[in-house]
Amino acid sequence: MPIKKLLIANRGEIAVRVIRAARDLGIRTVQVYSAADGDSLAVQMADEAVEIGPPAAKKSYLNVDAVLKAASDTGADAIHPGYGFLAENADFADAVHAAGMAFVGPSGDVIRKMGDKASARCAAKAAGVPTVPGSDGVIDDLDAAAEIADTIGYPVMIKATAGGGGRGIRIANTREEFKTLAPQASSEAKAAFGDGGLYLEKVIERARHIEVQILGDGNTFIHCYERECSLQRRRQKVWEEAPSSALSAEVRENLCASAVALAAAVKYSGAGTIEYLYDEATGEYYFIEMNTRIQVEHPVTETITGIDLVAEMIKIAGGEPLAIKQEDVSINGHAIEVRINAEDPALNFMPIPGEVGDLRIPGGPRVRFDHFLYQGYRIPPFYDSLLGKLIVGADTRENTIVRLKRALSELSVGELKNTAPLFTALAEAPDVLAGAVHTKWLEPWLETNADRLSGEKGDAK
Ligand code: ADP
Ligand code: ADP
Ligand code: MG
Repeated sequence: MPIKKLLIANRGEIAVRVIRAARDLGIRTVQVYSAADGDSLAVQMADEAVEIGPPAAKKSYLNVDAVLKAASDTGADAIHPGYGFLAENADFADAVHAAGMAFVGPSGDVIRKMGDKASARCAAKAAGVPTVPGSDGVIDDLDAAAEIADTIGYPVMIKATAGGGGRGIRIANTREEFKTLAPQASSEAKAAFGDGGLYLEKVIERARHIEVQILGDGNTFIHCYERECSLQRRRQKVWEEAPSSALSAEVRENLCASAVALAAAVKYSGAGTIEYLYDEATGEYYFIEMNTRIQVEHPVTETITGIDLVAEMIKIAGGEPLAIKQEDVSINGHAIEVRINAEDPALNFMPIPGEVGDLRIPGGPRVRFDHFLYQGYRIPPFYDSLLGKLIVGADTRENTIVRLKRALSELSVGELKNTAPLFTALAEAPDVLAGAVHTKWLEPWLETNADRLSGEKGDAK
């Protein structure tokens, strides 16, 4: 049954993005919101809006009963979870189906299998996709795990099976460190994610983060090429681009084919991302995890392929077969996304919510700013600090970086401190220009370039 009314169980820029896709498809929208979000752009844009609880996400955006009630009260026939919040909650997906609605994403069973990072490793191995050398399944005995860590060789990464957003990861450099860190990691994961499960991976040094966008309808599976997200701070992406400048045509083909094989093995339905680490020195790639949802950086892929990923996932959830064939997907030029957060890069990225002042949005050919701002809007302090994402495309990587700098110089959010000065500085860094980066490149660069991050002397505010 095609979807007629879609409820958006999220907020911020992704809620606005989903409303736009729904409207393009002729679908009515219902925006749920917390008491802190009554004045949000998504609430103003949606056809209907329902308040579902107090500001704390646990009582609103993560409140399954309140979200389901809003959906049934408004006669919605589908729910889009965006990213974060309930997006990778398998029980929520099951509850949406049980209530007779479509969940815009894969089934609860697929989320369970691929959302648990240890179980996803097993699924990847079974599908013939290379994984990082490490443990099998969830660790149940920390003494036995120390033996496994010895075998893997130090440094070893201790990862939470339920982790995400760069959290739930620790590195042990010796057996002694492992013995101290592993129990801590488990109790912290239990507290943060409600699940203390751990698994181990060898640390891949100087790796590049490369991920493959896939689309599936349960029968047909395609990839939309890769994104590279090696510029990270605290294991969180800050700058994403496509295509990756690190891959040869042959590696790209194999990598993307492995992602399609894994999607097919789990009969994936919807939009998903398969994340890998790529070791440039050896040319080897290793699966690290799957995100069974739309990702923050999806516009990079939309910019180079022309595919509307959010519209595709909504159509698939409405029961339409995937109409895009693999041979229809091609790469047109290059694209870069930078995350504009309400954080002060000069103050160790301290989040500083405030009021949007003089708002100027960059424009011109292949320039897109996905955001939820308006002049005078007060950023609520309860949620993550993403203000918007600046995405630019051009024919070559070099020209994309030139255009990125130009677009950043046009962007203004008034006095609100934000991460734009970081990207203006990065767009001039020789290693970035050369594409010579890896996931541990940015943090030391930030240490030595602190003076360039205040935004005082650049033209970006
Ligand atoms: P992407 O993988 O799409 O780049 P991020 O890793 O930045 O996305 O995560 C997207 C959003 O989801 C962020 O707000 C992040 O904090 C949140 N998130 C991801 N995984 C989890 C999780 N397991 N628990 C809580 N929040 C999560
Ligand atoms: P999350 O669920 O938080 O996104 P990931 O498993 O995707 O966690 O890893 C996040 C980041 O942590 C990666 O992009 C990479 O920078 C780093 N990382 C994860 N696993 C390894 C590893 N085995 N070796 C080196 N770096 C890793
Ligand atoms: Mg990840």
